[in-house]
Amino acid sequence: LLEISHLKKSFENLDVLHDISLSVKEGEVVAIIGPSGSGKSTLLRCATMLERMDEGELTYLGKCAATSKAGGHAVYASPKELKEIQGYFGLVFQNFNLFPHYSVLKNIIDAPVHVQKRDKEEAIKEARILLKKMGLEDKENYYPCQLSGGQKQRVAIARALALHPSVLFFDEPTSALDPELTGEILKVIRQLAEENMTMVIVTHEMAFARDVADRVIFMDGGYIIEEGDPREVIEHPKEERTRQFLARFS
Ligand code: ATP
Ligand code: MG
Repeated sequence: LLEISHLKKSFENLDVLHDISLSVKEGEVVAIIGPSGSGKSTLLRCATMLERMDEGELTYLGKCAATSKAGGHAVYASPKELKEIQGYFGLVFQNFNLFPHYSVLKNIIDAPVHVQKRDKEEAIKEARILLKKMGLEDKENYYPCQLSGGQKQRVAIARALALHPSVLFFDEPTSALDPELTGEILKVIRQLAEENMTMVIVTHEMAFARDVADRVIFMDGGYIIEEGDPREVIEHPKEERTRQFLARFS
């Protein structure tokens, strides 16, 4: 479904991602772990085209978003093609990024109606189904400032799902939340995993990664150091750097 190969990214003189290759199959849940500054967010930002990579290839569902010849600069597809590819994924951030001046319902239907040009009544109907699924059926007329962090994050997830993405990216979806609110978000993500949603999740929740992910990737210093079965990587890491990182969580 998603293929990233030989991705390189620097900011000025700082090489942030070295030679990252990653492929995600349909229905797969991939967790990315690693210390602060290891390049996890930059990888998600490159995968979702919020950031342009310097070198490398990016393909969604067989459609090329960017290619590069050996050692050459990444060449991106036309704006029209990129716009289509953008419809294949959704992104949920740490800080929710809801529109503060829109109600919950409007936050969810805005892009389906204005970007995807879907019928407004249909979009509202679907938004209500999503809100129910998120346990927020009574909150559609609330504004983001009237919601708890956990509720905001569930609205953000509903908003991403309303666009029918083939893959959903999460960048530390719970790290701005208290422990009790973290649980409710992890439960929602777990439910999506059971429904076979394809997801790539940057997280510091090791138990969650171990239980929900099909594969765990450990990054450090802009490299993928180790990846594989969650139980293997988290409970029996092969690499010393992975061991040192995980020791902080036990
Ligand atoms: P955290 O766990 O703290 O979120 P991370 O693994 O997501 O860390 P990144 O945010 O990807 O790390 O950052 C990797 C490196 O890239 C850091 O050294 C950071 O300072 C640098 N960096 C990220 N974005 C930019 C930018 N826009 N301009 C310059 N440097 C940046
Ligand atoms: Mg980050």
